[in-house]
Amino acid sequence: MPASRRAMIPPPTALIEAPVPAPIREVVARLRELNHAVYLVGGCVRDILRGVPPKDFDVATSAFPEEVQKAFRKVIPTGLQHGTVTVLAGQEHVEVTTFRSEGDYHDGRRPNTVTFERDITKDLSRRDFTINAMAWDPLGLQFVDPFGGRHDLDARLIRCVGSALARFSEDGLRPLRAVRFAAVLGFTLDAETQAAIPQTLPVFRKVSLERVREEFVKLLMSPRAEMGLELLASTGLLEVFLPELAGVDAEAARLARATAAAAPAELEVRLAALLADVVDGAGAEAICVRLKFPTKVAERVRLLVSLAALEQHLESEPPALRRLLARVGPAQLEALLEVARARFEVRLASRRGDFERLQARLRDVAAGKPPLSPKELALNGGAIMAALGVGPSPLVGQATRFLMEWVLDEPSRNTAESLREALEAWKKTQGA
Ligand code: ATP
Ligand code: MG
Repeated sequence: MPASRRAMIPPPTALIEAPVPAPIREVVARLRELNHAVYLVGGCVRDILRGVPPKDFDVATSAFPEEVQKAFRKVIPTGLQHGTVTVLAGQEHVEVTTFRSEGDYHDGRRPNTVTFERDITKDLSRRDFTINAMAWDPLGLQFVDPFGGRHDLDARLIRCVGSALARFSEDGLRPLRAVRFAAVLGFTLDAETQAAIPQTLPVFRKVSLERVREEFVKLLMSPRAEMGLELLASTGLLEVFLPELAGVDAEAARLARATAAAAPAELEVRLAALLADVVDGAGAEAICVRLKFPTKVAERVRLLVSLAALEQHLESEPPALRRLLARVGPAQLEALLEVARARFEVRLASRRGDFERLQARLRDVAAGKPPLSPKELALNGGAIMAALGVGPSPLVGQATRFLMEWVLDEPSRNTAESLREALEAWKKTQGA
């Protein structure tokens, strides 16, 4: 649309009235003062228009990176070759990126060349979806929306800028982003955009699993995770990075999605709820490692998945509950209960009352702070060796395990005196 016609459309009130943080305003004002075009772009414009406070504000400008650097006292050359300069405005870091267009993509991941541009529309045309391709100049009160982003926002549609097939063939991450935005925003995929996903799966396969994981986490943590997971499955994306889940039968997959969505939005809890009935603990850890989750996350998910089947403990006596608590660790009990609660809600609804009772009993046991690990025993390693009359040896380990089990059976036994007596008796059974 020519600039003259564009200017005739009054800018949306939401944008005019949106509070723009002072540091952002100052950066925009400074660049305008130097006669550069400057806009807020992308996610922040989208979020203001849908009435949600933006997470961050991205600034785009016609000024070239050297010009941006010269315009401010304190800058960090964050990604000069991509045109990004971080301006330090007070305590705030403001990312300022030069308008750019992208050359051909040859590997499905990155453009071969990036060209700096003086025209905002060129910059908007390289962006992924129409709702992410709007710009707003908060001082000049200019709204730029060349691809109908505002219309699609109202229609709640995720639609590619230009040909979906071409855009997904350039960058294989975009199909996953489309599904992620649909889930996070509760929008529908435009038909052409959706149809292009199965056709461009070979490009999606080339994307690094770190980038896939970042988008997948946003989808999984969204309030519409269930719908997002379903869309991942039906488009074929899931098969590429989570074949374990894509491979189960339709009913098992539906239950897994529902269980994930029933769990609170805490990363490891949702992952464990999703995977608990699909793979075992080791399998869940392997998936997390493959998707490049931090080791801590992978280990926590393994633990939660391996112990998730709390229905096995509905009839358990206190010693068994203490052993369970020793395995999960008191610090992880609430997370395990969340995973188990989601599984009961979705899969074992008729036994929810039994789960509530188990939960209360487990919490009671934990509140009593019974000794659960060898370091909590009333005899330490040295004292055990002395009582046995031996130096460091495998016997000490065996004795410690014996004492631990004996105390898990009855925590009141955890006194130095009782443990020494128990050791005496145990020694005899060992023929020592
Ligand atoms: P969020 O609120 O989730 O951060 P966002 O729109 O800010 O949403 P980002 O991933 O932070 O999303 O990207 C910022 C902007 O950069 C997007 O709005 C979009 O215009 C553009 N963009 C990001 N990734 C791509 C991509 N793979 N292809 C094209 N444009 C992209
Ligand atoms: Mg963002």
